[in-house]
Amino acid sequence: AAPGKQDFIRQIVRDDLAQGRHTAPRTRFPPEPNGYLHIGHAKAICLDFGIAAEFGGVCNLRFDDTNPAKEDPEYVQAIQDDVRWLGFDWAELRHASDYFEVLYLAAEKLVRQGDAFVCDLSAEQVREYRGSLTTPGRNSPYRDRSVEENLDLLRRMRAGEFADGARTLRAKIDMASGNINMRDPALYRIKKVAHQNTGDAWPIYPMYDYAHSLSDAVEGITHSLCTLEFEDHRPLYDWCVDKVDLAHSPELLAPLLARGLPNQAAKPRQIEFSRLNINYTVMSKRKLVAMVGDGLVDGWDDPRMPTLQGLRRRGYTPASLRLLVDRVGISKQNSVIDFSVLEGCLRDDLDAHAPRRMAVIDPLKLVLTNLPEGHVETLTFSNHPKDESFGTREVPFSRELWIELEDFAEVPPKGWKRLVPGGDVRLRGAGIIRCDEVVKDGDGNIVELRGTLDPESRPGMEGANRKVKGTIHWVSAAHAVAAEIRLYDRLFSVADPDDESEGKTYRDHLNPESHRTVRGWVEPAAAATAPETAFQFERIGYFVADRREHRADSPVFNRSVTLRDTWAT
Ligand code: ATP
Ligand code: MG
Ligand code: MG
Repeated sequence: AAPGKQDFIRQIVRDDLAQGRHTAPRTRFPPEPNGYLHIGHAKAICLDFGIAAEFGGVCNLRFDDTNPAKEDPEYVQAIQDDVRWLGFDWAELRHASDYFEVLYLAAEKLVRQGDAFVCDLSAEQVREYRGSLTTPGRNSPYRDRSVEENLDLLRRMRAGEFADGARTLRAKIDMASGNINMRDPALYRIKKVAHQNTGDAWPIYPMYDYAHSLSDAVEGITHSLCTLEFEDHRPLYDWCVDKVDLAHSPELLAPLLARGLPNQAAKPRQIEFSRLNINYTVMSKRKLVAMVGDGLVDGWDDPRMPTLQGLRRRGYTPASLRLLVDRVGISKQNSVIDFSVLEGCLRDDLDAHAPRRMAVIDPLKLVLTNLPEGHVETLTFSNHPKDESFGTREVPFSRELWIELEDFAEVPPKGWKRLVPGGDVRLRGAGIIRCDEVVKDGDGNIVELRGTLDPESRPGMEGANRKVKGTIHWVSAAHAVAAEIRLYDRLFSVADPDDESEGKTYRDHLNPESHRTVRGWVEPAAAATAPETAFQFERIGYFVADRREHRADSPVFNRSVTLRDTWAT
């Protein structure tokens, strides 16, 4: 099992299996369906599903849907699509709401044990009684209610007798605890809001720590992996698991068994790791929701968004994101990963896996005057310089070509290797040409170059070995297909868009140059491709045929990443 990866969590799993604590790991990925998944989630997904796969275990996808107000079935569907796209599949699809009945029975158990009480303090009073890091809290005046009274009130909460916020069910732990999470935390609140999975069945909803720990226990999760901010919640997680003791309480599981679900209850262990943070990016779902809602971006799958949908549309591949997670590694050390690391992962993946094509994104006409009018020939190009298995393709070549405007300089700067008036350049795969004439319009703008092809310099000929300084790409003007080319850059222009120190917010840091559209020309073999196909456009960068708008007869390509890191800081 898993020879390669040596992080501390995999080491724990290895030890647990070696000690016979489990026969195989069971993990879960527990997103809240209140937004689309982002690249941070990719780290958790690769870890949760990856560990299960590497050690012969299983991983569940569990929607942590205990906060009905912000949740939506649209997100439930998108999350499933994204997990599959990343290359993973779940053993079972569950919702925390599947366990509402079990959680409620467990709450009655806690009440009967004297471990929970119904509290009538308002939210504000609860805050006041809670104390602070430096002062202990005070016991609620309702803390000593009898078991009978608590049970009666809990049942009436469940029956919908009380108004939102009128009462809570609280754990009876320790108002003087150094860990504020242990100061009689709420387990249930009253909220008469329809739920995306259970409809109007429940007027009360379980709190996160209670629902999460017990959901893990119900599913027999062995290693419950989560991010570091939950470290301080672990004592409460353990408290809930131990006090309810689902593994030895089959009577609490009756509602699930009645629905045909197996009893897998066991005692889970929570292990925390550091979040993935990437600079020039915001990753809070709240901010991402606001950016979409306020039209700062063109939706959840805007190619500049750090959502998996956005990254996918930008041309990020599942392999490149898995590579990122591997490169970043798993630890408890908080850090911020440089955006260039993410881009480097995509480049490495596409360099190996993207076929090459030619495209001109800022076109200048070149007419080869020594070829006859209407001359057309077909050249054979290899699709990948380092991998023959990509095969070859036919590229039309003719008298009139498009070349890149920036490959020509009337007055070349020092060290210039490309085309100049009277100079030679090699046309990739076609031969050596000389520029004889620069044609301008009345305003002095260059409209066309006229030149000659050296007939002795064609591929395979002796004269092709003649030394010229530069090689440029081109497309045949008569055959190329006009394409919309979307040039994307980082969405934010500062490394830490979350920094609000100077009275600014992330909205003030949007990069105004993060999106530019140009009209270019692509060779026929680039246009005639399926959406989501990735290419390296030679000498320009990696591009992907847009997932939504690309058509063979009206191609749309998104720049996924440039060939080299050119971001100036
Ligand atoms: P956000 O803070 O963006 O709203 P969240 O943590 O509330 O994210 P959840 O849907 O609860 O989002 O996350 C599901 C899982 O993904 C959790 O286990 C969470 O710890 C993990 N996760 C979320 N963000 C990151 C991140 N940046 N790096 C690693 N794991 C993450
Ligand atoms: Mg969360
Ligand atoms: Mg959150």
